[in-house]
Formats: sequence, structure tokens, C-alpha cells
Amino acid sequence: MSSIDISNVTKRYGSKPAVDNVSLTINEHEFMVLLGPSGCGKTTLLRSIVGLETIDSGRISIGGRDVTSLAPRKRNISMVFQSYAVFPHMTVFENIAFGLRNQKVPDAKVKRRVGEAAELLHITELLERRPAAASGGQRQRIAVARAIAVSADVLLMDEPLSNLDALLRMEMRAELKRLMKELRVTVVYVTHDQIEALSMGDRIAVMKDGQILQCAQPLEVYDRPADKFVGSFIGNPPMNFVNATSPVGGPGLMGIRAENITVHTTPHDGLVGEVSVLEPLGSQNLFTVRLLSGETVKLSTRPDLYLEAGSQVWLEPIAAKTVWFDPASGKPIGTGR
Ligand code: ATP
Repeated sequence: MSSIDISNVTKRYGSKPAVDNVSLTINEHEFMVLLGPSGCGKTTLLRSIVGLETIDSGRISIGGRDVTSLAPRKRNISMVFQSYAVFPHMTVFENIAFGLRNQKVPDAKVKRRVGEAAELLHITELLERRPAAASGGQRQRIAVARAIAVSADVLLMDEPLSNLDALLRMEMRAELKRLMKELRVTVVYVTHDQIEALSMGDRIAVMKDGQILQCAQPLEVYDRPADKFVGSFIGNPPMNFVNATSPVGGPGLMGIRAENITVHTTPHDGLVGEVSVLEPLGSQNLFTVRLLSGETVKLSTRPDLYLEAGSQVWLEPIAAKTVWFDPASGKPIGTGR
């Protein structure tokens, strides 16, 4: 049993809460992503789970056991940090064995566990070398191998890919996802990269100002953001927001994704505007349209559609894909469905 139950957890630095009355349940073997902008409290929540921070109030249970006042080493949690410190004076083998040696695991078992972890991460050939001889991606794998070698129930990862270049990050993303499913551990993964969150998470908890605004499966978060901030933080381009009369009457802010707008070049019901920019992206074209109201909308189309800057267009948002928000609070007020 390795589910995690976070119940009304608050952690303050001075008078300001970094984590503000957060409740979240992470299921056994689930890959949960904590996503949010810098300073929203992701790392503080992660450090509270592992026990590196003492929380001011609330309760944390792992596998049904209350660990709130347990020392970190008694929580059976393993962690990979953003700055994955590998020890330069030790061989890769000893780096991976580090946690096991601390636990006074017998030599034969250390050898077996390190061998297994190295094999899973495809770094067996590096074991006798020193980390200086390893590439950035390989060093990252050494850090992950060290974390999984101790066979903890829960694995916490804090921006583990952020020091890698874009290509390697994409490769490691898929690799880590596969590995976590294979190991059947419960994972809490911190990132501010929404693509990483969408592609890796079973669920995503989107945080802002110490609170969780929405926790749901990636597509749900993408399609049905529970807050205007979530719609603008997830997706590239961000969700469009246009002032309009809401389906329930009264002023509303219509949220619509760039790919959910049909564009017409002859008069049609919908939003009238003028093309201001075309960005061809290879697999799609991205247009910026300036509406009569002065608001701008981004829409994506197939790559062979060409609309000249300055041309007039009529935009038809797909009604079922619209999400409506209260203009003042940014909270939902009903959907297009
Ligand atoms: P980042 O992505 O930049 O790491 P984050 O979402 O992980 O950000 P936290 O590091 O948890 O955010 O920080 C949350 C808030 O708590 C921030 O306002 C931060 O300045 C503050 N904070 C974090 N650690 C401390 C500390 N040790 N002392 C004082 N304030 C802190």
C-alpha cells in the first residue's frame, strides 16, 4: 500500500503560507504531477511529503499510516532533486549504491539492486566509471537509478529533467514514464513545464499561490480548466478568452482553444476580425486574429490554409468546446456542452 493522503496541509514561511490548506489523495502506483509557476509551492509540498519540512497544520499519511511526525528516513520515500548531485569521487556503481549503503544493506543485495537499476536505465556499461565520464543524460539516469535502487514505495521527483537540453528532455520524458509504470511505484513529480505534465501524468494538480486549483486527468485539465488561470497556464498557445454573453445570460468570458475554432472567409455567425499574423509551424498554421472588440484570438489550422494579413475572417468557436468563466473571479459559470 503506497497511496498518499494529504489532508489540509499548511506550511508557512513567516506569515505567508507557501502551501495553503492543501488536500490531495494520490492513489497507489499513480503518477501525479504537481504543476504551477515558480513560487506556487510545489517544492514545499513535495518537501513536506518527504518530511524535509515540518508542516504547520494538517496531516500526511502514506499507505494509511500517519507519517506527519515521522523522520524522513522512516517514511520509505525516495527522492530525485533538480540538481541531481552525483558524487564525483565515487564510481557510478557506488553512486547508485549510496542509499543502500546508508541502509546497511548486505553487499550481495547491493550488487543485485544496483545491477537491476542500472539495467533498467541502460547504464550498465558505466558502472565502473566515474560520473565525470558520463553525459548529462547519463548523469540524470544515474540519479534516477540511485533513487529506485532503494525500492521505496514512493518516489518524489523535483524537476528532474530541467537541466537537460530540449531533445534529451523529450527522450527522458518517455523513458521515465515507461520506467515508472514498470516499477509500479507511486510517483509525485514536480514541474513547471506544462508539456511534461500533460505527457507524463496520470493526473495533474495545478497549483497557484499555495493552493491546488484543479486536479484531474491531463485531457480534462486541458479541455475543461476549472479556473481561467489553468486554461492560460496549460496549452501552447494558451486558451483564448473572449468577452461575450454567456449561455446562462449575463456577461461571461468564453474560453476556447485555438484548434477548436472554424475559420470562414465569407460572412458567418461568430466573431468578426482581421488576420494580423500568420505563423507556419510545420504541422499546423497559427493565426493571430484581431477582433472588432480589440481582443486577440489565436487559431490553428491545417498547414496548407493561407490567409493574408489584413484579410477579414469570421470565427466560429465549436460550441461544445467552449468553457465559460466569470469575468471577475475567473471561476467557471457553465460550459458549452
Ligand atoms: P520553483 O518552481 O521556483 O521551485 P515552487 O513552486 O517549487 O517554485 P516553492 O519553492 O515551494 O515554490 O516556494 C513557495 C513559496 O515559499 C515562495 O514564495 C518561496 O519564496 C517561499 N519559500 C520557499 N522556501 C522558503 C524558505 N526556506 N524560506 C522562506 N521562504 C521560502
